[in-house]
Amino acid sequence: MTIVGLDDTDSRERGMCTTYLAARLAEAVVDAGGRVDRKLLIRLNPAVEHKTRGNAALALHVDLEPEHALDLATAELEPLAETADPRTSPGVVVADDDPSDVPEAVSTFTRRAIRDFLEPADALRVADDAGYVHRGWAGGRGRIGALAAVGAWAALEEWTYEHISYRAFDRCGTPREVNTESVFDAAAKFHPQAWDTVDREEDEPVCVPNAPGPILYGIRGDDPDAVSDLAARIDSESIERSATFLTNQGTDVHLREGTLGELRDGRAYRVDGTVASDPETRRGGHVFFDLEARGDADDSVDCVAFEPTKRFRDRVRALRSGDEVTVCGEVSDGTIKLEKFAVRSLRRTVETTPTCGECGRSMESAGRNQGYRCRDCGTSRSGPETVSVDRDLDVGWYEVPPCARRHIAKPLVRGGFDAPTHPER
Ligand code: ATP
Repeated sequence: MTIVGLDDTDSRERGMCTTYLAARLAEAVVDAGGRVDRKLLIRLNPAVEHKTRGNAALALHVDLEPEHALDLATAELEPLAETADPRTSPGVVVADDDPSDVPEAVSTFTRRAIRDFLEPADALRVADDAGYVHRGWAGGRGRIGALAAVGAWAALEEWTYEHISYRAFDRCGTPREVNTESVFDAAAKFHPQAWDTVDREEDEPVCVPNAPGPILYGIRGDDPDAVSDLAARIDSESIERSATFLTNQGTDVHLREGTLGELRDGRAYRVDGTVASDPETRRGGHVFFDLEARGDADDSVDCVAFEPTKRFRDRVRALRSGDEVTVCGEVSDGTIKLEKFAVRSLRRTVETTPTCGECGRSMESAGRNQGYRCRDCGTSRSGPETVSVDRDLDVGWYEVPPCARRHIAKPLVRGGFDAPTHPER
């Protein structure tokens, strides 16, 4: 078996998309008499600054000879890659290996590319040691992602699907013609096998991208038939080609277990703690709170729900100091950008100044450590009153809505969480 890894052919301003190149290459392989067993769309560390948008890399599992596959990839890539953009740095890596049995160093490289930062030299060393052929253009940084995609089938356990429909290439840059009502109807029919197709509250067809490029829409889900059947029900402008990819989207594979006090920028974590300040909405509508380690106020971190996470911010605003939570998100400038959180326990009481049993008015402090008294009635109390508070949250997981989901983040509707879930749709 031959594995062809591809990455970094895309430009933020000019469009293109490496998935499109992979879809075309898959057709070229078949035209050359070959077979394509799988098409993989792999999301790598979302914190990487070189990314164009979603830090995707692609791999095809084919039965052509490696040199032949590299020639076909080169022939497809050279006319399409946006190498005039100084940020675009394409790479192709071709492996003569069984996809489920690549060298340990290659699958380790994939896991690191999803959770950490790597250098082009790391990719070249691992690819050369494994005897893989590779080519780079304009620096060839894309070989990092290409090698990571080569190792993905061996490195990862959990897979989802995305069916992508592409528009005619010469229409790229013009407004997309997609009948929104047909998208919402189809999304309702196939939910939850297909997820994140629309955001019902925001009334947004999130499967239709805004960026320039050849993707008309992408349907994500747990079942390959559901995503393509859903796509078939969407009324739109003509579709030039389509492809269904196996992906690590919606799996949370970017998250590592973290401990407060040991978090590092550019990595994404799942971390337990206690809410240490009531949430505060700052300029721009971003909501912040402080999270501290249970029983150790010295280790703490800021958490933020940004404005684009929309109604998720109401869930975050409903947290109170003293709540025990697990938060998930990437650390950037020392702040966790929240993707989801779980309430483990809610603080249900607060201590307040007591009221007088005789007159019902608020008592006053009788002095440091001397309790409270009512000046009018002469009554006294040794300490504050404990009153219960109504809470607007329940124990369990809360998440950003589909319109704000990161590609790699796992929607609650997929299940498998360690507490009740409160899914958005
Ligand atoms: P495209 O559609 O072109 O793939 P994209 O949003 O996926 O767009 P790229 O243009 O591929 O982003 O840019 C990501 C770049 O970062 C690639 O060159 C890739 O090799 C590199 N890269 C990916 N993961 C890592 C990592 N963990 N550490 C360092 N570089 C990485």
